[in-house]
Amino acid sequence: MRLKGKISIITGAAHGMGESTARRFAREGAVVVIADVLDAEGAKVVAEINAQGGKAEYVHLDVTQETEWKSLVASTVQRHGRLDVLVNNAGISGAVPDRMDVAMFDRLMNVNARGTFLGIKYGIEAMLGTGGGSIVNISSISGLVGQEFVHMGYNAAKAGIHLLTKSAALQFGKDGIRVNSVHPGIMAPMRTSVTAADPALRAKLLETIPLRRAGNGDDTANAVLFLASDEASYITGTELVVDGGFLAG
Ligand code: NAD
Repeated sequence: MRLKGKISIITGAAHGMGESTARRFAREGAVVVIADVLDAEGAKVVAEINAQGGKAEYVHLDVTQETEWKSLVASTVQRHGRLDVLVNNAGISGAVPDRMDVAMFDRLMNVNARGTFLGIKYGIEAMLGTGGGSIVNISSISGLVGQEFVHMGYNAAKAGIHLLTKSAALQFGKDGIRVNSVHPGIMAPMRTSVTAADPALRAKLLETIPLRRAGNGDDTANAVLFLASDEASYITGTELVVDGGFLAG
């Protein structure tokens, strides 16, 4: 088991790639705290993981709320003694029809960038007290290149996550805290995707992927697992692209 006994928090793990990562972590022996705003869905994932012999629990967290971050991290450390792994995965989509909407820009920055910053802040605070840990931030190919069909606030927020990751790695490497980013490509549409869920657009995008298929939750979960685990003990401040070769061209 590659995460045996590791205490982990995964945000946005009630659905999508966060859910796949939570299930993967549990199979690898981690204690998984699923933190999301979708309480019913989160509780269901927890029940299924525990029924299969894993160790999971659900805590309500809106990643934009600093007080909720404080209490999530404090309660995790209180119950389990430490925090080994934090995956900042929660996010909202920029695939919306009005790509110049100012309120949308603010929401994208608030949830995706500021939410990740708050996770880094409180995750590191806990890890400093217990000798280190691993933080994996979910960015995107949208954090590395511009795109035609995405609100540029999504690109700005995901690029922000890319560089938040590098600065956190530089600032806390001496404390035994590794911080890396994962950059998924074209995956299943997010719950909040509007335009990217259009089958015609998806078919066009898939033609540009060297491996000729969309990625799935396990593709991302496996990359996150590697960076979270001790197998990546000399890897920090880097990015792992999971995109079927999309950015190679
Ligand atoms: P999803 O919509 O299926 O899941 C996102 C999860 O985040 C949901 O469970 C949602 O409830 C949660 N969430 C949203 N806002 C939140 C908040 N304020 N507080 C707490 N939880 C919140 O999307 P997904 O495809 O699984 O995306 C996971 C991550 O991967 C996101 O950061 C996304 O930007 C990134 N990503 C997705 C794709 C893709 O094509 N699906 C590609 C690259 C990167």
